[in-house]
Amino acid sequence: MWGPAIEGRRVLIHGSGGGPSDMTTPAPDVPTDFIRGIINRDLESGRFGGRVHTRFPPEPNGYLHIGHAKSICLNFGIAAQYGGLSNLRFDDTNPTKEEEEYVQSIIDNVRWLGFDWDDRLYFASDYFEQMYDYAVQLTRAGKAYVDDLSADEVRKHRGTLTGPGTESPCRNRPVEENLDLFERMRAGEFEDGSRVLRAKIDMASPNLNLRDPVMYRILHAEHHRTGDKWCVYPMYDWAHGLEDSIEGITHSICTLEFEDHRPLYDWFLEALGAYHPQQIEFARLNLTYTVMSKRKLLQLVERGHVSGWDDPRMPTISGLRRRGYTPESIRSFCDRIGVAKTDSTVDVALLEHCIREELNKSAPRVMGVLRPLRLVIDNYPEGQTEEMDAVNNPEDPGMGTRKVPFSRVLYIERDDFREDPPKEFHRLAPGREVRLRYAYLVTCVDAVKDERTGEVVELRCTYDPQTRGGSTPDGRKVKGTIHWLSAAHALEAEVRLYDRLFTVANPGEVVEGAGFESVLNPGSLETATAYVEPSLAGAAPGARYQFERLGYFCVDSADSTAERLVFNRTIALRDTWAKIEKRL
Ligand code: ATP
Ligand code: MG
Repeated sequence: MWGPAIEGRRVLIHGSGGGPSDMTTPAPDVPTDFIRGIINRDLESGRFGGRVHTRFPPEPNGYLHIGHAKSICLNFGIAAQYGGLSNLRFDDTNPTKEEEEYVQSIIDNVRWLGFDWDDRLYFASDYFEQMYDYAVQLTRAGKAYVDDLSADEVRKHRGTLTGPGTESPCRNRPVEENLDLFERMRAGEFEDGSRVLRAKIDMASPNLNLRDPVMYRILHAEHHRTGDKWCVYPMYDWAHGLEDSIEGITHSICTLEFEDHRPLYDWFLEALGAYHPQQIEFARLNLTYTVMSKRKLLQLVERGHVSGWDDPRMPTISGLRRRGYTPESIRSFCDRIGVAKTDSTVDVALLEHCIREELNKSAPRVMGVLRPLRLVIDNYPEGQTEEMDAVNNPEDPGMGTRKVPFSRVLYIERDDFREDPPKEFHRLAPGREVRLRYAYLVTCVDAVKDERTGEVVELRCTYDPQTRGGSTPDGRKVKGTIHWLSAAHALEAEVRLYDRLFTVANPGEVVEGAGFESVLNPGSLETATAYVEPSLAGAAPGARYQFERLGYFCVDSADSTAERLVFNRTIALRDTWAKIEKRL
């Protein structure tokens, strides 16, 4: 029932767990983890004057994914919990990979997740002038120099993990010459890649990040916000710490891979005498059966393996949203996984469990038939229609009931009939009786077959008029209850049945050479023409339902129209997570 111990906090994975260990659990809405521990200490010592100010700093070079959601929930969640602030800041320092479309999608996604930054929407590119001034300041102080080495040569001079680097011949250039060259770099006198500005730190440092890292490169490229104003662009490591400093961030929360960069950020801010936030690193989220790097997700999009960034199979926020996930389910997932300092991979079944749990409470039930089989009730009057009362949500009586039309010719699920069923099969078979949900009991008297293929194309049944609503006056037991639709009233709809995008749990770790594309699941999308009950006419894009006995479905926000409904299966009813949980 319990997840692994995580930095002093035990993560409650199973909501309804009992037992004495629950007594020591913090209430789920007041998470405590090592990051909050640091913040608590800083608040006690008055380190930032009692301020808590975080930020979410995406690079607009792709759509956000569920891993980003973890970071968003953490940063905005902490700000909310402590009555502090959180900024949304675009780290747009790389003009060649960034686009306005990504900026818009990110703004949209963070807002959809339920977070708000008031008027604190910032762009690193707004600080380019200040960053440039800071670079001049370092150069003037003899702590930065212009290097004429090519990128390749800089890399070669860098040394190895075991051996020191080599100093560049330009390293001891006089300050005035550096200032002059840097100014001319900015003025556009030099070609791309011909010079860089580097920090003068220590070519023998055991931390490679401190071996005179590049601060500026020459790049004659159009920037999505600053146009052609700049032809020198700051490197990430130079820019990132400055952005946090400029905004007065107190706690710069980032993922573990930046731990080794922290000494460099510290060095820059100390050398400048600038305001200094506290950086805290945590483990990034990895999820089974998917990839979680923007580079790989972009590849899936560009190579047409998915229909776009918002393909419902993608682990992007836009994809999950289109698939039918709610903001609450994603936030609840992020709460449950907690925050740790060691890398791990979370089972995607936990994410699926979160949405199932929520939709079970909130989604209205309807009937839909994915693979229809005609069922004719021989003794039901032709031309007659009855309105059956159906419960909208057994979990919530307040959601009321609705009418579902019933008539002589029905569709049932093909899987609900077996000509030669095993003993455990409680549905329809020749001579067997089942309950039609909210309607009558029917007995199968004949299965009509296609003469050529032998496939069953129609069932002939009789019904017992005494069993309206599903009860038997004589008390006879009928085990199976199946769903159905009146053929004359049913609406045709397209359903998209999604499965995992990859066939292996760790597609990122596929053998060399093969690449993650070799383990794509060819059956990750199955499209079918289905039928749904007439109450769904005009269902709004994004609306979510439980198709009884089948799963949760959501009206597709891009392709569904009043004329032709399109449903995405969010998740089947079968709960793999519940099974895993039982084994825990
Ligand atoms: P990717 O590796 O997917 O391209 P990134 O780190 O390059 O991600 P950014 O736009 O820089 O993407 O990320 C913005 C913020 O989100 C950063 O603070 C980063 O640490 C955080 N983040 C990115 N991926 C994850 C993840 N898988 N889990 C938790 N946080 C993440
Ligand atoms: Mg990044």
